Amino acid sequence: MEYPEVREVDPAVADALVGEVDRQRETLSMIASENHVSKAVLEAQGSALTNKYAEGYPGARYYAGCEFADDVEELAVERAKELWGAEHVNVQPHSGTQANMAVYLAMLDPGDRILSLELNHGGHLSHGHPANFTGQLYDVEQYRVDEETGYIDYDALAEQAEAFEPDVIVSGYSAYPREVEWERIQDVADSVGAYHLADIAHITGLVAAGVHDSPVGVADFVTGSTHKTIRAGRGGIVMTGEEHADDVDAAVFPGGQGGPLMHNIAGKAVGFGEALEPEFEAYAEQVVANAEALAESFADDGLEVVSGGTDTHLVLVDLRESHPDVSGGDAEDALADANVVLNANTVPGETRSPFDPSGIRAGTPGLTTRGFEEDDLREVGDLIHRVVDADGDEAVVADVRDRVAELTDAHPLYE
Ligand SMILES: *Cc1c(COP(=O)(O)O)cnc(C)c1O
Repeated sequence: MEYPEVREVDPAVADALVGEVDRQRETLSMIASENHVSKAVLEAQGSALTNKYAEGYPGARYYAGCEFADDVEELAVERAKELWGAEHVNVQPHSGTQANMAVYLAMLDPGDRILSLELNHGGHLSHGHPANFTGQLYDVEQYRVDEETGYIDYDALAEQAEAFEPDVIVSGYSAYPREVEWERIQDVADSVGAYHLADIAHITGLVAAGVHDSPVGVADFVTGSTHKTIRAGRGGIVMTGEEHADDVDAAVFPGGQGGPLMHNIAGKAVGFGEALEPEFEAYAEQVVANAEALAESFADDGLEVVSGGTDTHLVLVDLRESHPDVSGGDAEDALADANVVLNANTVPGETRSPFDPSGIRAGTPGLTTRGFEEDDLREVGDLIHRVVDADGDEAVVADVRDRVAELTDAHPLYE
């Protein structure tokens, strides 16, 4: 990937683009929300559809010349319906946050009540954090995981819902390693007359492949991102039943967005098409098997794995017991030096600052795309442990960096 056209007009940007491809090739990309899309998705995203205004929906646009935009959006919608089994799908949200915004805008008035998981316990900014519009427009209370087990405390959630009487309960998380029991949350929502929004941003691909239970057809609204465990390029999606379809569509456009990013919708169409192939199910199964192998490796090395393991694509490690002097930020920095890219993360019962929390979060979607399997992940777990344990020892970091180079060479990307 040389970007010759960009280089011709803008060498500085070309340098950054090529640099980013090389960075992705040469590092272990273990940020749980990231992945590597196919070259076909990249090509679709770089298409001339970026030039096209297509406000509205297929067959009912506010602009002329939308026939190909219509084709692409219809393909994306039909494939999404097949992947997730949804009655109604809107593929226009620019991001997962925009998808959530559409649901809130469709169903809530300012001041209405949201009950969602605390950010420190694995929730997301767009679920009611004070720094996000959701925390500013709505009345938010938050539930938590059980700090002992790391699992959602469903009984406490039920009690809290009864006392708070929310208008919407949000499930679906950013740093929760366990399978979510959608029906239990739906029962709570039903019992207090709240809507249930299941935000499957992280696990869209796992749900599509059937390796994680699906909230589609259970929760009133399901939102997701299209660039995490599903490799369809950056963007968001909303799924709902026919009864809320018009409200959701109106909330996406004109409610919260203008012209859809048709080039990204083309990427979604291609990525969803790829996910409908049988190989995608094997991919998703491997993602989870790899995360399990990583969690086992960490535990064998004496690291504390939150909830004792994982059912998903991510592993959350609480460093406080094993490495009281190493913050998540220290670990993130040292690992980045060794070309292992993951992020510091808060853990249940967080005692440090959210800017330098006590844990690290590691995901397997990206490595699995490159063909890493369980044995590789066990080794990667050991490498991560060595760096965390090294207390800044440059020789250890350099040694790990050399081994990472061998691993990335053996699993090429974007050839
Ligand atoms: C990643 C994520 C989103 C979407 O984030 P965007 O960056 O806006 O696409 C939404 N909800 C959760 C739970 C997430 O983890």
